Amino acid sequence: MIVVMESRATREQINDIVRKIQDAGLSSHISAGVERTIIGVVGDSHTKELLRQSLEASPAVEKVVLILQPFKLVSRDFRPHDSIIDVQGVRIGDGSVVVMAGPCSVESREQIVQTAHAVKAAGAVMLRGGAFKPRTSPYSFQGLEEEGLRYLAEARAETGLPVVTEAMDVSQLMLVIKYADMVQIGARNMQNYTLLREVGRAKYPVLLKRGPSATIQELLLAAEYIMSEGNYSVVLCERGIRGFDNYTRYLLDLSAVPVLKQLTHLPVIIDPSQASGKSKYVPPLSKAGVAAGADGLIVEVHPEPEKALSDGPQQITLDTFAQLMGELTPLAAALGRRVQVPAALRSR
Ligand code: PEP
Ligand code: MN
Repeated sequence: MIVVMESRATREQINDIVRKIQDAGLSSHISAGVERTIIGVVGDSHTKELLRQSLEASPAVEKVVLILQPFKLVSRDFRPHDSIIDVQGVRIGDGSVVVMAGPCSVESREQIVQTAHAVKAAGAVMLRGGAFKPRTSPYSFQGLEEEGLRYLAEARAETGLPVVTEAMDVSQLMLVIKYADMVQIGARNMQNYTLLREVGRAKYPVLLKRGPSATIQELLLAAEYIMSEGNYSVVLCERGIRGFDNYTRYLLDLSAVPVLKQLTHLPVIIDPSQASGKSKYVPPLSKAGVAAGADGLIVEVHPEPEKALSDGPQQITLDTFAQLMGELTPLAAALGRRVQVPAALRSR
């Protein structure tokens, strides 16, 4: 249920409504728009129905609307305008194309620092790299764990690029937050509800990846778990779903981009690397993602993909990445958009 306040409602009147909601044992979530404030009310439906009439009677309330979708706070009913998620000055969802890049896994200090410098020079605004890796086989490289997080922090110190990296479970979350600027919840964990709630409580920027078999509604409900705990800094990521064809690793669901952009105010980015599984398809899928309206990309880039300890076949080289960035600039311009540039370059 959402409470749409009158445009002239005062701070005091808004607080009064929030108090009424909380007194009824429900939780309130405020979305302060330019014109008016919207208060999202979540909790037991019967209690909401009982409260509804008394809220409607308040002169400061324009109307009370039931949200029919199962997801509430992520829906555009709650927040009609696009959310902009700020990660250390990188603004995801502001209309520009945000590019995050880096290796699948952090493998050594040299590897991540070299990659960070190169992707920054090519125009990436965030650095990616896994320290805790969800691998299909228990015998595959599992990541450098805290050592990897330390190298990521060193790469950030050298380049200024904010870091996004994965936490696979609650026990790793605080450690990841200590080093990273944004926590990635991987595809395999999209429905790990304990982790979603915990990252919601942590109030730290989250990159939430769609599970390979998850519907769009399930993805939105996973985001709702995070938002319902009070963390509104969520970015969604389409990274390919299970198809029936073997030429690509997964099937990049491009249609999810406009569908999500219609249903939710949260930014949506594309991961063309996990989706294709093959480096040669990464540039065309990246461009397709931008053309479909994605707010950005997360791309796997490795100085020597053939020697990578994970996902080698899908990682593009530093040169290919630079070339891709060169091609994205005119594409974004043709779409009336621009590729976001690193903060240090912004003032020049
Ligand atoms: C990754 O980003 O390297 C990764 C494992 O992603 P996903 O969770 O989408 O498979
Ligand atoms: Mn990977």
